[in-house]
Amino acid sequence: MTEHATASHDIERLAVLLSGGPFAVLTGAGLSTASGIPAYRDRHGQWQHRKPIQHQDFLKSETVRRRYWARSFVGWPRVAQAQPSDGHAALTHLWRAAALGALITQNVDGLHQKAGCDDVIELHGGIDQVRCMACQQVYARALVQQWLAQCNPDFASDTVGAAGPAPDGDAQLEDASYAGFRIPACPACEGILKPDVVFFGDNVPRERVAGAMQAVEQAHGLLVVGSSLTVYSGYRFAEQAHRLGKPVVAINQGVTRADPILRAKIELDCNHALARLCQALSIQP
Ligand SMILES: [Zn+2]
Repeated sequence: MTEHATASHDIERLAVLLSGGPFAVLTGAGLSTASGIPAYRDRHGQWQHRKPIQHQDFLKSETVRRRYWARSFVGWPRVAQAQPSDGHAALTHLWRAAALGALITQNVDGLHQKAGCDDVIELHGGIDQVRCMACQQVYARALVQQWLAQCNPDFASDTVGAAGPAPDGDAQLEDASYAGFRIPACPACEGILKPDVVFFGDNVPRERVAGAMQAVEQAHGLLVVGSSLTVYSGYRFAEQAHRLGKPVVAINQGVTRADPILRAKIELDCNHALARLCQALSIQP
């Protein structure tokens, strides 16, 4: 069979599986690349950019926090303005048509919500919120952007545009360019402000994992979209679905950690594959 025929066969196979009952969905960075938010890993599961920030380093080191916030200050507008891709839209159509159940995402960009889906479990949190590590007060990231601008009136004009974005709303700046960057503290208690996302080296909150696991257990199967599942925090859902005898299917260009247990795999661009899946199920946008 040609590659095209193989992909068509796999999409048909996925359509048949989905007609048996709603699937839970797990999405990763591969879905958001078309929205201008780059993926951490390439198709072989290797790091594409510098290593992401570590949770403990952020809490312990003011230099790390200064670097994070300087980069985030530059990278945030692009993330805030990012628009859902055709793939996000297709998943919303499938969800509205009840072909899909709960949508679990490893992404922190809020694009599923922007695409109109309101049954989203953000495993790693959302980049649109900032939390005080001392009093736990939550602030809108857009408000913190104003504080950052007020603390650093001369920073933006020099640096914006020079840096490329990273997946967590962070941007890639040279070390020297943020040495004088000033970071705001929590207005209520002077505590450390941290984006309300799960950094590497931190755990996804237990109740959030339990909610996502329950969604997988209630579903007919699990559809993985745009994730290599390299990190266990995502892989465990595929493992659990498989353990319960439910089909696990992936739309991903490149290897996934779940390859040995997949019932079907579609190695196409997520946007293209999801549009064809809608067609196969006669679901119109
Ligand atoms: Zn506080």
